[in-house]
Amino acid sequence: MQTPSGSFRNTFYPNVTDAEWDDWHWQLQQAARDRAALERFLTLSEDEVAFFDRAEKPFPVSIPPHYLSLMDLDDGSDPLRLAMVPRQQEHVTHPGERLDPLGETDHNPVSRIVHTYPHKVLFLVTDFCATYCRYCTRARSVGSGDWPTLERDWQEALDYIRAHPEIKDVLISGGDPLTLSDARLDMLLSALRDIPHVELIRIGTKLPAVLPQRITPELVAMLASHGPLWLSVHYTHVRELHPAARAACDRLANAGIPMMSQTVLLKGVNDSIEAIRELNETLLLCRVKPYYLHMCDPIVGSDHFKVPLSVGQDIIRGLHGHCTGYAVPMLMIDAPGGGGKVPVGPHYIEGREGDRLVLKNYVGDRYFYHDPL
Ligand SMILES: *Cc1c(COP(=O)(O)O)cnc(C)c1O
Repeated sequence: MQTPSGSFRNTFYPNVTDAEWDDWHWQLQQAARDRAALERFLTLSEDEVAFFDRAEKPFPVSIPPHYLSLMDLDDGSDPLRLAMVPRQQEHVTHPGERLDPLGETDHNPVSRIVHTYPHKVLFLVTDFCATYCRYCTRARSVGSGDWPTLERDWQEALDYIRAHPEIKDVLISGGDPLTLSDARLDMLLSALRDIPHVELIRIGTKLPAVLPQRITPELVAMLASHGPLWLSVHYTHVRELHPAARAACDRLANAGIPMMSQTVLLKGVNDSIEAIRELNETLLLCRVKPYYLHMCDPIVGSDHFKVPLSVGQDIIRGLHGHCTGYAVPMLMIDAPGGGGKVPVGPHYIEGREGDRLVLKNYVGDRYFYHDPL
């Protein structure tokens, strides 16, 4: 099933050296960004072609060669392809879908800060990503690459965090923060560390999965110097855990950077117990703790990715008790309109009989727990 990157390289980049292939800048320069570039590697389906025919100002496409090498290019329903190659369904809006499903623009005290919860903020440090996931909750804003305002925006955001002593936890996101240069990231992390009330720094990124070449020893050492710093890594499918990606996790874990993973549940991509179990068990071996399994946010044109909540709950039921507890994530819905994240089960309390709780265990047997009213 897997296309080994060796044969991908031999076919499409026969003269490329290891130094080039392993250079994240080269990977980004070579990323497939339009129909013609994609057609060099694969035969587009009708739905995929129609996306480009109908696109006026589309959410950008970008797939680095490393990530293309993980796909089965002959399989139109390859999970990584469904997640990253656009289809015309993106142009169709369904009821309940919004450009800004999480109401983030309502919690935007300054342009780069989303302040939904009292003690933590999201700091959107860039609009650029190595690859644009087609279900991205920030499709309205990422990919625009509005660099000139960035420096001023950062200062404004840092001033905001400085002025709010209740903020203990800063989650750096975007865009993908690890697409910034080491020097710029270092500057940003130093500025955050200089704020006495900022305790925890987290970085949300997909690069360990899509562009593990970015996780250089220099980057890792710089990140570790600003600890305690955690990485929140977005993984979609076990196929992303290529040996290069596993080596990247090793470098991060060895440097003392804890990693949690977040996964979006997507139709045809990872919507089965087996897919999530394989992903999460493999993540644990890479020293990454599966944290959240998200129901897909209702962004415009995302209906083709949606599965019912019951699918998510069945997956969690299929994991809890049946594999290592560490491999069981929390199932979440990010409440549309800005309510924050809500854990959505499944639930194991059947009810109550007087002062006894009725519990259902992982195989469906009933147990009672004394719980006086
Ligand atoms: C997800 C999110 C966070 C972080 O949430 P945790 O549950 O602490 O991981 C913070 N702010 C916003 C706006 C978020 O969407």
